[in-house]
Amino acid sequence: MQNPHHFDLIVVGAGIVGLAHAYTAVQRGLRVCVIERDAACVGASIRNFGFITVTGQGAGDTWRRARRAREVWGEVAPLAGIEAVHHGLWLTAFRPKAMDVLQAFMATPMAEGCTLFDAGDAASRAPALQLQGAQGVLYSPHEMRVESRTAIGQLTRWLAEAHGVTFRFGEAVLEVATPMVRTSRATLHAERVAVCTNTDLNGLMAERIAPHGLRLCQLQMLRVRPEPGFQLPGSVMADLSLVRYHGYSRLPEAAALLAQLEAEEGESLAHGIHLIVVQSADGSLVVGDSHHYGAVLPPFADQRVDELILQHLRRTLKLKEATVTERWVGTYPSSASTDCLIDRPDDATRLVLVTSGTGASTAFGIAEEVFAQWN
Ligand SMILES: Cc1cc2nc3c(=O)[nH]c(=O)nc-3n(C[C@H](O)[C@H](O)[C@H](O)COP(=O)(O)OP(=O)(O)OC[C@H]3O[C@@H](n4cnc5c(N)ncnc54)[C@H](O)[C@@H]3O)c2cc1C
Repeated sequence: MQNPHHFDLIVVGAGIVGLAHAYTAVQRGLRVCVIERDAACVGASIRNFGFITVTGQGAGDTWRRARRAREVWGEVAPLAGIEAVHHGLWLTAFRPKAMDVLQAFMATPMAEGCTLFDAGDAASRAPALQLQGAQGVLYSPHEMRVESRTAIGQLTRWLAEAHGVTFRFGEAVLEVATPMVRTSRATLHAERVAVCTNTDLNGLMAERIAPHGLRLCQLQMLRVRPEPGFQLPGSVMADLSLVRYHGYSRLPEAAALLAQLEAEEGESLAHGIHLIVVQSADGSLVVGDSHHYGAVLPPFADQRVDELILQHLRRTLKLKEATVTERWVGTYPSSASTDCLIDRPDDATRLVLVTSGTGASTAFGIAEEVFAQWN
């Protein structure tokens, strides 16, 4: 009989990064235990848009990992009973300078499979978009949207039932000294440990995290009920996204757009606002977001920030009705230099923190790379 306190891999944290490591490990035949301090994951992984994004991710590591992660989501979601609520991205460019950024993007290898429509063409394909005065619309087929608040639980159950992963919920990990892991309830052992604890910057491995100068980033999110029958063509973004998502914002053409937006949208930029809209199976829209940074962030959502987000929503979509039905905040760690921190405290231990708003889109790709380099 197998010892219930011994595993090949212990994962700390049952968010998408921890689950991606658990999935990758069972694919390699490892016996895995995931330990989560809360009774269920209620962190960033259930608070996000469920927007699995490829186009717009930063060139290099993040785009490569997103491409691979999208493939894995495509394989895993049907097996775990997770619905792909919609596919594709429509990014509307209203300003000529936004169009310049999209044209520059189309000349990069990252535009593979994407189409840049003029406003007339886009209007017939995506009637929900408000395109009066728009210069054009980027369409990307790569994106997929899942309902994160249920998908994380579905993935967890599937890993337990189909792959024999042991989950220990309601148990905080207090110390990792691989092969020993001490929790609030037991002492466990594993050949390897992956610490995927996201915003817990002052807890486990705080001394390893501190030199990286991470801050927290907090986002405001809304659920909005549109009029019955309103249908998004896919995920939707607009001009402000072009100065935030690194795949666009690091193109030279983005500097002129940023200067214009600073003059015209200063208040939104000060709150780190750009528009993402996705749709749920019940027709409601998940809308965001803002970005506020600090060592600690008050959990109080600012009404003015919500108003600004809703203004961008109404400018971008042909909505007759937009009733806010839910508001929440979510947090992730943020780094000025990297989208993902992979630290190797010793041969048997890895600390993996996604230090940007890209974890749903990249975690499966990150986990594969972690294991590929973990001999
Ligand atoms: C509002 C919002 C919107 C976003 N939108 C998107 C999006 O659309 N697309 C995208 O790709 N990314 C998005 N992101 C980013 C993405 O959600 C995160 O990068 C990702 O969820 C991080 O996953 P995680 O597993 O590291 O974190 P989490 O989901 O926070 O999980 C970490 C877990 O570790 C547990 N933990 C911490 N310390 C301990 C301990 N000592 N012992 C046991 N357990 C512990 C916590 O309880 C937590 O459950 C968004 C983020 C936010 C906040």
